[in-house]
Amino acid sequence: MALKEYWKKRDFKQTPEPSGKVLKKNAHRFVVQKHHASHLHFDFRLEMEGVLKSWAVPKGPSLDPADKRLAMHVEDHPVSYFDFEGTIPEGNYGAGTVMVWDLGTWEPLGDAHEMLEKGDLKFRLKGKKLKGDFVLARMRSRRPGSKGTEWLMIKKRDEAVQPGFDANSAKLDYSVLTKRSLAEIGGDAESRRWQSNRPVANATSKSRSGGKKSKNAWLADAIRKHDQNAVKTSTPSAKKKAAQKKAA
Ligand code: MN
Repeated sequence: MALKEYWKKRDFKQTPEPSGKVLKKNAHRFVVQKHHASHLHFDFRLEMEGVLKSWAVPKGPSLDPADKRLAMHVEDHPVSYFDFEGTIPEGNYGAGTVMVWDLGTWEPLGDAHEMLEKGDLKFRLKGKKLKGDFVLARMRSRRPGSKGTEWLMIKKRDEAVQPGFDANSAKLDYSVLTKRSLAEIGGDAESRRWQSNRPVANATSKSRSGGKKSKNAWLADAIRKHDQNAVKTSTPSAKKKAAQKKAA
C-alpha cells in the first residue's frame, strides 16, 4: 500500500498531521491513538515494512480474551505519525482530536509479512497500557462488496489478561506522552461538542470535506452494529433508555 492512499486523503497545508515517507529501516514499535473524529475510535498501528500498518478499532483494544474487537484495516500511515497528538481541523479527513493512548514495542510471533498476508497476525505487545499476546485475524467477508477490511483483534490468555477491560474508561483517558485527557487535548469547545452525541445518521450524511460522501461511513456502520449488540445484551433499563432514544 505504501503511503499513496494516506497522502491522497490529506491536504498537508490544512492538517497538522505529518506527510512522512516510507522508512528504509524497520523497527517494531506500536502506537494506539484515541481519535475523536465524527465517531470516537482507537487507531492501532504496528511499525512494519517502513510504515505503520493501521486498523481502526471502534471500541478499542481489550485485555479481555472474551472481547473480539472489530478492527477495520485502513491505509498505511507514515512512521512519523507515531507521536502525533493534537487536533485535525474541521473540513479535513479525520477531523477531530487525536491522543497518543499507548506506545511501546511489539514482537511478531512468526514471520510478520507472511502472517499479515495470511490475515492471521500474532504478536506480543510491550506497551504502557497494553501487554501480552494478541491476534489480529481477517474475517471472511460475509457481505457482498466487502473489501476484506474487517478484522478481529483478540487478546490471548496470559498473565496480562484483565477481565472487563475497557479502553474507553475514564481511568485510561490519558495520553502516555503528555498525561492529558482527550478533552484537555481538544480544548473545552471541542469537549462540549463531543458530548452532544449526534445520531449516527446525521454524522454520516453530513460531509466534513465539502459535499462528498463521508469516508468514515464504514466506521459509523461498525459502531451502529456494535451499539445494537450492546443493547441486546444490556440491562432492561438500558434497553428502555435505548428505545426511548430511538423514539425521540
Ligand atoms: Mn482514526
